[in-house]
Order: sequence, then structure tokens, then C-alpha cells
Amino acid sequence: MALPTTTAAAVLTEHGQPLTLQDVPLPERLEPGGALVRITCTTLCGTDAHLWSGQMSLPGMLPMILGHEMVGEVVATGAGTVDTLGRPVNVGDRIGWSESTCGTCYGCSVLRQPVACRDRGYGFRQRADQPPYVTGGLAEYCVVTPGAAKLLLPADVKDTWAAMSGCAAKTVLRAVERTGGIRTGSTVVIQGAGALGIFAAAVASISGAAAVIVVGGPDDRLAAATRFGATATVPVEATTTDERASRVLGLTGGLGADHVFDFAGAPTVGEEAVAFAAQRGTITVVGSTGPRPAPVALGTVMGKELTVVGSLNGDIADYYRSIEFFRTFAGRLPWDELFSAPVALSEASASVDAMSRLAQIKAVIDPRLPSGTTATTST
Ligand SMILES: [Zn+2]
Ligand SMILES: [Zn+2]
Repeated sequence: MALPTTTAAAVLTEHGQPLTLQDVPLPERLEPGGALVRITCTTLCGTDAHLWSGQMSLPGMLPMILGHEMVGEVVATGAGTVDTLGRPVNVGDRIGWSESTCGTCYGCSVLRQPVACRDRGYGFRQRADQPPYVTGGLAEYCVVTPGAAKLLLPADVKDTWAAMSGCAAKTVLRAVERTGGIRTGSTVVIQGAGALGIFAAAVASISGAAAVIVVGGPDDRLAAATRFGATATVPVEATTTDERASRVLGLTGGLGADHVFDFAGAPTVGEEAVAFAAQRGTITVVGSTGPRPAPVALGTVMGKELTVVGSLNGDIADYYRSIEFFRTFAGRLPWDELFSAPVALSEASASVDAMSRLAQIKAVIDPRLPSGTTATTST
């Protein structure tokens, strides 16, 4: 089969402006270990909305193609392309993948942590006007680079679930691992009620936590968190920092929470996490991505003997476990409620806007849908 030479893509050319549908070139040939996929599902992440608005920017990287949670069907491969378990990747296979890494830097080879790679290649770290042009998910076809760890996907994991594993879900699973696991019968506070916070509530619940308290908003997100395993919710909009702390203490028998996870990144999460945590508790910082410092009562970290760890996104191991998690607990919770109805590439711009207004938990784009297909006209 002749390879496509161009692909339709929704391109970010100027922050805060609508994405433009363009034909973008594809590489003439695939490198050994690489692949060309036809995207079947892309889910949007908060980072896509932040990149779109310019709240987060990568100087010199426009035009770019957003989307870093996606799944695709292989339409061509370079020589010797295999997945992370060494299985050959062939045309027709359905694959997911993690960000590319160089394999030779200090982070890759000494720390052996792909997230510490100094040249970690997210899809959006690729200009759409330079080869290989398209590594983001808001395109019909997408290049999977040789350095991206790939995984052949089991048939019983839905496209949306696998796409979400590409960032949100693997990030949560890594955070749980970084905190040392959630002990059965323990108490957990989750700061933030976005996709990560809601999924974290589900993971904590399934892990056997006795109490799962989600602190966040707005109200419809807290209601969703409850459907995904939260045993109590605390609205941030209607409460002060002190009130939130006393609510958490009240819900944990005055002890505070064994595990606190920051998936919110708001300026007060640090001081609140320390206040929420129980003696010898853990705090895992995931959502605080900005450059601004946030106050933390170090005396309380000392006095409570807290363990504070950071957790950065996830690697192919976290991705693999996320796929297995969805497969194992497919029927346990109403996962599909996390996702909006799929829309066409032509509607991707509206979806990014909806994500930035918190109007959707996970927007879904299926680039195979005919132009103009919106959420109301699809199932
Ligand atoms: Zn590296
Ligand atoms: Zn993301």
C-alpha cells in the first residue's frame, strides 16, 4: 500500500486562537523502529488546554499539533519495529505508546528513569513544519518515533481507556507507586477533581482505602468523584483553607490522612496537604507544575514525620500497568462516564476550549469521523 504523503491535522498556530485544519506533510520513509499509525482515538489532557491558551508555552515550537493521549492502528512500520515486550509490530496492529526517550543520557542510562530523560519527546515537542511533522494526536495519521516505547494493546481495553493511559492514568499509577502504595484500610485525601483526581479516587478505592476524600470542584466534578469511589468530598469554592483542614480531620477521626495526593496545583495545595496529612503520612506532589513557589510548613513536615515525594508523569511501565488496570477492573466502575462523546478533527478546537473551561472531564476526538461530527450527533 502506498503510504499517505500528507495528513489532516488540527494545528495550533497561535496561542488562544482556534486550531486550524491543515494538510501537514508526512515523512517520506519511516526510520527503523518507527511506525505510522492512523489515530482511532485521542483524549485531551489539561496540558493540551494550557498549551492552547499559552498558559504553558514552548518558545519556538509553533506551529504544533496538540494531543498526547492517543491510540492508533499501524499502517506502516520502519525496519524491525517491536513493542516494549519485544513483540513485532505489524500493519493492522493497534498500539499505544509512551513518550520517546534517548536511551543514552544520564537519566536514561544511570538513573534508568525514562521520565528523567533530558530529551523526552512528547508529541507536542515537535514543530508541525519540520520532520517528522506529526507526533501529536490531533491528526488523522501520526508518526510514532523509534524512541517511543510502544505497546500492542489487548482487544478488551477500549480506545478511550488506552488513550487516557497515555498521560492521565499512568500519571496516577506512578504517583501511587511513588507514595509507596496505598495501604488497605488507610485514609486518602485527593486534592483536585479533574480527570486525574477522579481516576485517583477510583484507584484508591480499588486499592482498599477506607476513606477517599476528594477536595476540589466544581460540584459536578465532586459528584463524579463520588461515583468513582470517593467516600466524601470537600468543595474548595465554598470553604476556607482552615475549614477544609478541619473537614478532613473530622472525616479521619481527628488523625488526618495517611496519604495526600496533589493533583490540583493550586497555590494553597502545599500548606493544605501538610495540614491534611496524618502523623507519618505521605504527600505526593503531582499537580504543582508551575514555576511559582508555594508555602509549606516545614516544621509540620518535621513534627509529623511526613514523607513528601514528587511524581512526574509516567513511563511505559506505568502505561502498561494502566492498561492492565483498565482490563482487570473494566466492569468495576463506570469508566465511560469520564469521556465525552467522540467528535471529528474539525471540532477539536471546540473540545480544547471545552477542556479549558472545565466543561468536559475528557474530551474525545476520533479523527476518522467525518468533518463536522459533534458530540450531539454521535454516540
Ligand atoms: Zn535520555
Ligand atoms: Zn497530559
